[in-house]
Amino acid sequence: MDHLTKLENKSIHILREAYANFKDLGMLWSIGKDSTVLLHLARKTFFGHVPFPLIHIDTHYKIPEMIAYRDNYAKQWKLDMIYGENTEALKSRMTFPNGNCSRLECCRLLKAEALKSTLNATGTRYRLNHEIGEYEIEKNPRPFTGVIVGVRSDEEGSRSKERYFSPRDHKNDWHIGDQPPEFWNQYKTDFAPGTHVRIHPLLDWTELDLWEYIQRENIPMVSLYFDKGEGKRYRSLGCWTCTQPVESTARTVEEIVEELRSGKFSNIAERSGRAQDKEDGGGLEELRKDGYM
Ligand code: SF4
Repeated sequence: MDHLTKLENKSIHILREAYANFKDLGMLWSIGKDSTVLLHLARKTFFGHVPFPLIHIDTHYKIPEMIAYRDNYAKQWKLDMIYGENTEALKSRMTFPNGNCSRLECCRLLKAEALKSTLNATGTRYRLNHEIGEYEIEKNPRPFTGVIVGVRSDEEGSRSKERYFSPRDHKNDWHIGDQPPEFWNQYKTDFAPGTHVRIHPLLDWTELDLWEYIQRENIPMVSLYFDKGEGKRYRSLGCWTCTQPVESTARTVEEIVEELRSGKFSNIAERSGRAQDKEDGGGLEELRKDGYM
C-alpha cells in the first residue's frame, strides 16, 4: 500500500469511528485545501453522501471567491450546509479591520466565539435550503457533541498537541495536559456527558501529502490557490484583511506539488502569509484552548 493510500485508510477509519459514536456530529469546512480534502474523504467514506452537516464560520472578511466556491459545491454535492457568525461583534464593529481591537481579539470574537455559539446552538445558525438555493435561519438548532476538523500536526505548534479524538469540557475549554492516550489505533470515544469532542482525521498529513492527494483524486480547489498570471497565489486561505498571497507562478496542482517537493517552498512554513500568526507570541495556543480552530 502506498503512502497516500495508508493516510486515506486511516482517515476513513477515523471518520467511520466518529460517525458510529457521536449522534450530533458536524464537520467544519473552511473552504481551504485541508477541510476540502476532508470533505472529499467524507464523501468517499460514505459513498458520495455526507451524513452530517458541514459547518462554516463566516467572519464576513473571507475572500468573496471562497464563499462562492462554498455555495457552488454545497449545492452541487447536496451538502447539509450550515454557517454561523458572531452577529454582535459584527454589528458593533468590534473587529480588527474596523480598528477597534487587536488581531488576536478579532480572531477570538469572529472565529473562536462564533464557533462556540454555532456548536452549542446559542448563536444564530443559517442552513442552506436546497429547494430555494438560499440560507435560512435554522429553527430549533441542536448542539453538536462532536465536530470533525481538518487540522494537521505540522501546521503550527499548538496543533501538534492535538489527539485524533480530542475532548473539550462543557465550557469548550481544552486541557492539553489531560488528554486520553491513543495507542495502536485504539481511540477513546466514550466521554462524560457535556464533553464536546473535536475529531482530527488529518493529523498525520503534511501539506505535500494533501496536494499529492488532490492531484491523485482530482479534487476541485478554489482558484485562489493558483497563479493567474500575476506571479502570486494563496498558499493558505483566510480573511482578506490578514492573509497575503505568496510570490509563485504555480498555475496547476502539478506545479504546486513540484514547488513543495523540491522548489522554493520546500523549507518555508505554510502559514507564513498569515499576519495573525506573526503577532501570535504563543497566543494561538491560548486561543485554541478557548475554542479556536
Ligand atoms: S483573520 Fe483578521 S479579520 Fe479575520 S478574524 Fe482574524 S483578525 Fe479578524
